[in-house]
Amino acid sequence: MSEQVLVIGGGIAGLTAAAHMAARGVPVTLLDSDALWTGGRLAGGAPDTLRHNGQTWHFRSEHGVHAVWGGYRNFRATLARFTPTRLIPSYGEEWINRWGREVRRLEAGNAVRARFVPAPFHYLNLLLHPRIWSAISPWDFLSLPALLVSISLTVGVDPLKEGKAWDGLGMEEFFRGWTPNLKATFKGLGVNLLAAPPEAINLASFVAVLRFYTMLRRDAWDMAYFPEDGETSVIAPLVRAITAHGGHVWRGMTATRLARTADGWRVSAEDGAQGITRSLAAEQVVLAVQPPAAKQLLLASPDTAAWAQTLRFPRALNTTTVRLWFAAAPQDGTQGGMLTGDFVPNNFFWLHRLYSDFRAWHEATGGSALELHFYPPAATVHLPDSYFLVQATSEAVRAFPELKHSFLHGVVRRNSQTQTAFRVPTSDSLHVRTPLEGLWACGDWVGYDTPSFWLERAATTAIAAANGVLAARGLAPYDVLQPRAPELPARALAALIGVGRRIFSRFVAR
Ligand SMILES: Cc1cc2nc3c(=O)[nH]c(=O)nc-3n(C[C@H](O)[C@H](O)[C@H](O)COP(=O)(O)OP(=O)(O)OC[C@H]3O[C@@H](n4cnc5c(N)ncnc54)[C@H](O)[C@@H]3O)c2cc1C
Repeated sequence: MSEQVLVIGGGIAGLTAAAHMAARGVPVTLLDSDALWTGGRLAGGAPDTLRHNGQTWHFRSEHGVHAVWGGYRNFRATLARFTPTRLIPSYGEEWINRWGREVRRLEAGNAVRARFVPAPFHYLNLLLHPRIWSAISPWDFLSLPALLVSISLTVGVDPLKEGKAWDGLGMEEFFRGWTPNLKATFKGLGVNLLAAPPEAINLASFVAVLRFYTMLRRDAWDMAYFPEDGETSVIAPLVRAITAHGGHVWRGMTATRLARTADGWRVSAEDGAQGITRSLAAEQVVLAVQPPAAKQLLLASPDTAAWAQTLRFPRALNTTTVRLWFAAAPQDGTQGGMLTGDFVPNNFFWLHRLYSDFRAWHEATGGSALELHFYPPAATVHLPDSYFLVQATSEAVRAFPELKHSFLHGVVRRNSQTQTAFRVPTSDSLHVRTPLEGLWACGDWVGYDTPSFWLERAATTAIAAANGVLAARGLAPYDVLQPRAPELPARALAALIGVGRRIFSRFVAR
C-alpha cells in the first residue's frame, strides 16, 4: 500500500497544500501539467527582452498577479511559514476615470481606508477629498437612498455563508437607482475585484467580494505587493519548502483519470517529457486544479463521473495583460490603480516601482514600465494581440499624458481560460471535503466556510484540505484563520438587518 499523497495541480492552492503536508512529514508528490513553470496563474515565463540604446535588458515575465489585501490571513501565514518573502506595503492606489476625453484621477486607497468614518460608511470619506468634487455632480447625491439600500444589502446578506448564488441576477441589480456616474465607477470596482467583464459578474459574487475586500472593515483594503515577481517571491520558495521536507514536484504531468482502489486511489497521468501514461498509487488525493480541468478529470473517471454529473462547475475566463516600456517616466504617483469609465483596460501597475529588474532599467535609463490588465467582454476577448497592444498604448497615454511620444516596446500575454468566473459555492459545488473518502479539493473556486477570494481562498481551502489529510493520519492540523470581525457600525447594521429579515421571513411564511 502506498502511503503517499498525490496533489494534482501546482498553482498556489496545490503548492500550499503540499507544503503544509510535507512539513508535517507526509510523503507528498505534486503533479502539475506545465512542463516548465509551476505556479498556475502565479507562474513565471520566459523573460521579455528589450534592446535599447545598444544595451539588452531582460525582464522576468508572469501572468500579472501582484497584490495581497488586508484579509489575506492564511496566505500571509503560508508565506511566513515557508518563504523568506516580506510583502511591500502599497502607498496608495489611484482611481483614474475617463469619460470621453475627460480624465479624472484620485488617490482613493488611503482616502477610503485611513480616514475617520468607519465601515460600512467609509466611502463617504471620499467626500473629504477635494478632487472628488470634480468627479461627481450634484445629481449624484440623488443616488444616496439607493446607495444606502445597496450598502445594507452588502452588510446584511452574506451569500458565501448562506450558500446563495442567485444565478441569473447580474451585478447590474446592485445599482438600481444609482446615477450613471457613480454606477460606472463602482462597476469598475466589481470588474477589478472579480477580474471579469461586467456581464460575467453575478450579484451574489459582487456582494461577497465587496464584503471581503472593502465593505466590512476599512483595513480589509490594506494592500501590499510581492517584493518581486510571483515566481521569485512565492512559487520558487514554496517548491523549495516542499522538496526540503522530502516532497516531490513533478512538472509536465497531467492527471487524466482517478480510480478508487481497496486502500486509496490510483491516478493515471500523462508524462509529457516521456510521452507515456503513468499510473500512481496514493492513499489520499488533493485536487487543486482550475474548474474546467476539475470537471474534465472527474467526468472522465468512471469512479467519480456519476458524482461529478451532479456538481456545478463555474466557468473560466480569458484575461490579457500588456506590458509597455516607455523612454519617459511619470514624476510621482502610486504603484498601481484602477481604470474605470470609458477606459478599455481595467487596471495598471508601474513595474519599475515594484520589481528590481524594472527598477534597474528605470534608474539606468529614466524609462518606465507599465502593466495593464484587460478583463475583456465576449465581443473583444478573441481579438488579436495587436488590438490589445494598440488599446494599451493609447489608453496609457490618455491616463498618463507625460508618456506621449515615448513608447518603446510592448508585450501581450494572453492568459488562456484559467481565471475563475467566481460563483458562490452552493451545496452542489465542489467543496474541500468531498463525499469520496480520501479525495480532497482546494482552489480559488472551491467551497469552504470562508468569505475569502483569490489567493486567500486558494490558500485557505488548501490548508483545510491539508488538515483533512493530516487528521486522517493523526497529525496536528494548522489553524485556518478567518478575517477579523467587521467594524462596530457594520456589525450593528448587520444585526439590525438580520432582525428585519427574520421578521419578514416569518411574515412571508404565514
Ligand atoms: C491576470 C491575473 C491577475 C490576478 N491578480 C491577483 C492578485 O493581484 N491578487 C490575488 O489574490 N489574486 C489574483 N489573481 C487570481 C489568482 O491568480 C488566483 O486566484 C490563484 O492563482 C488561483 O490559484 P489556484 O491554485 O486555485 O489555481 P491555478 O493557479 O489556476 O492552478 C491550477 C493548476 O492546476 C494545473 N492543472 C490543471 N489541470 C491539471 C491536470 N489535469 N493535472 C495536473 N495539473 C493540472 C495547472 O497547470 C495549474 O498549475 C489574478 C489572476 C489573473 C489571471
